[in-house]
Amino acid sequence: MYKGIAASPGYAAERAFVLKEQALSIPQETITADQVELEKQKVRDGLEQVKQELAVTREDVRERFGEEECAIFDSHLMMLEDPTLLEEIDREILDSAKNAVWAAHDVLTTHASVFEAMDDAYLRERAADFKDLRGKLARRLLGVGDVSLETLDRPVILVAHDLTPSQTARLNPKWVKGILTEIGGPTSHSAILARTLQIPAVVGCGPIACEITDDTILALNGNTGEITIHPEQELVDLYHREQLAFQEEQTRLRAAAFETVYTADGKRIEIAGNIGNPADSRSVLANGGDGVGLFRSEFLFLEREQMPSEEEQFEAYAEAAREMAGRPVIIRTMDIGGDKQLPYLPMEAEENPFLGFRAIRLCLAEKEMFLTQLRAILRASSHGKIRVMFPMIATEEELLEAKSMLAQAKEQLRERQLPFDEKIETGIMIEVPSAAIIADQLAPHVDFFSIGSNDLIQYTFAADRMNQKVSYLYNPVHPAILRLIGRVVQDAHAHGKWVGVCGEMAGDPLYAKELIALGVDELSMTPSLIPRMKQAIKGMSTTTLIYQ
Ligand code: PEP
Ligand code: MG
Repeated sequence: MYKGIAASPGYAAERAFVLKEQALSIPQETITADQVELEKQKVRDGLEQVKQELAVTREDVRERFGEEECAIFDSHLMMLEDPTLLEEIDREILDSAKNAVWAAHDVLTTHASVFEAMDDAYLRERAADFKDLRGKLARRLLGVGDVSLETLDRPVILVAHDLTPSQTARLNPKWVKGILTEIGGPTSHSAILARTLQIPAVVGCGPIACEITDDTILALNGNTGEITIHPEQELVDLYHREQLAFQEEQTRLRAAAFETVYTADGKRIEIAGNIGNPADSRSVLANGGDGVGLFRSEFLFLEREQMPSEEEQFEAYAEAAREMAGRPVIIRTMDIGGDKQLPYLPMEAEENPFLGFRAIRLCLAEKEMFLTQLRAILRASSHGKIRVMFPMIATEEELLEAKSMLAQAKEQLRERQLPFDEKIETGIMIEVPSAAIIADQLAPHVDFFSIGSNDLIQYTFAADRMNQKVSYLYNPVHPAILRLIGRVVQDAHAHGKWVGVCGEMAGDPLYAKELIALGVDELSMTPSLIPRMKQAIKGMSTTTLIYQ
């Protein structure tokens, strides 16, 4: 048995279909000065064809799955329309005398490597987007056809080294019952699309394709990441039964997810979704979320050449507020620093970036940048129910300073006579242990707390959340964590304030049970986890602690 990363839940047991990528060989021919214009023109024509091809795929996806699944193609189109990309390729043709396909390939490879070198898993996987476009453009420029999956006419488990987002989006779930890839992580766009298409998937399996041919029977467990080559008939039958039961369960859960949920002993629990851009709020709604518990606003600042303007930010926040139609949307002010760097905001290299100039610490120093974001959030608050939340607060002074900046932003809007919610609810993330310990001092200054368990656990155990070797310390139900959370809840409730949890532990029913027993009022998670959680809450009680 092999083990990869479980990327999309469910079971499949079918014959394999191995996707053999045609290796593209890029002719590296130097050109003469009089060929420069011709090669530049070839790039323009190639880009135009790729854009048309993307637009067709986008339309196909829109018809099959709706507008909300098109974001990836919009972002690819935006990448292609970015004038600096064309300028960089033109420069490569002119300065290095490279032919069109070679120049384009090298420029897109450089972009991909920048993302590949990043620590943040989400950003690292954006490299796949540049590689996807690099392959498409090279195929157009060389006149080579695309690898086709459209001829499939039998149920298969698709085996590939990697899948591009456009290949994944064109898959027909009628025949593709499972996906197995050698590389990739759970937050790659292909994994996200597999979850949307509800095709069970296991990614990052390592070099396994060489052992598999189109005749090999495979059994794939998208919940655990297990892959069995040549399974016994018993396992095949079991997986077929499990998949049927899983699909029925999903349909039932989704249908029931639109109700308000109460614990068995009658406490209302708000179940919200975590998002990184306004379009994700549709997925929160589709899964029955009661609101957005965490909008990681820093994603609006990444993958760009310049700071987004107040207007651009306002549009994004207002779009999320409008989409959620009166349900609350908690916008976390940007958490830049640590592993998330902005190319347009030069920062000194730090020995320990996660303990350094990050999130609120950076914002309190970059006052103009922070005020711009606060004004945009405030303005959007007149389009829905927006709440604002400060990340990484460690002391009362930091909180008071952040609040005074919010007051300053309000004053600036009053001067500009722009409307906003005067009583916008203001909260902080509890993710630094010092904040948890002085929760009683912080509570009077806020409307709510949201516990960022990912960081709270990392900082409490002094264990880097990205480092596999210390991952044994990442235990959300260790007494050290539960005591901190319990204390935060007690202090907040004593001041009449509510507490949510928006780190990964909030999405797991086993941990949620503990959080509910500790008195937590709201849980915010990856949108697809909402239906299962809403179901689980009904069986929980506010008094039954398992671990303490
Ligand atoms: C957290 O730390 O738990 C959290 C939700 O914030 P992020 O994962 O973005 O650091
Ligand atoms: Mg955090």
